[in-house]
Amino acid sequence: MSKNITYIDWVKHLPIGDAEYEQCSCPVCNSTGLAYQYFGFAGSEFGWKLVWCPSCMNGIRISRTRVPAGAQVLIADEDQEQFLNQHSEVNLIV
Ligand SMILES: [Zn+2]
Repeated sequence: MSKNITYIDWVKHLPIGDAEYEQCSCPVCNSTGLAYQYFGFAGSEFGWKLVWCPSCMNGIRISRTRVPAGAQVLIADEDQEQFLNQHSEVNLIV
């Protein structure tokens, strides 16, 4: 159950397309369905992405990633803070 999953294991495991996240298994606990959220900067197509498993609450932060057109992205500081506060139980593997 508590396999030693590294950041690289996560990155290799993740699907290319965001649409596939809900079918993707968690590399840590193997349950199906991963969640993600984009964070952006005003006027930039790049941002970062939080990926996590809603079952075991493990996840990673992917820095410098392109935010796809049409993706729901948090840009305002207060929106980012609120989201991170609401998801503070996520254990980010670095
Ligand atoms: Zn999990």
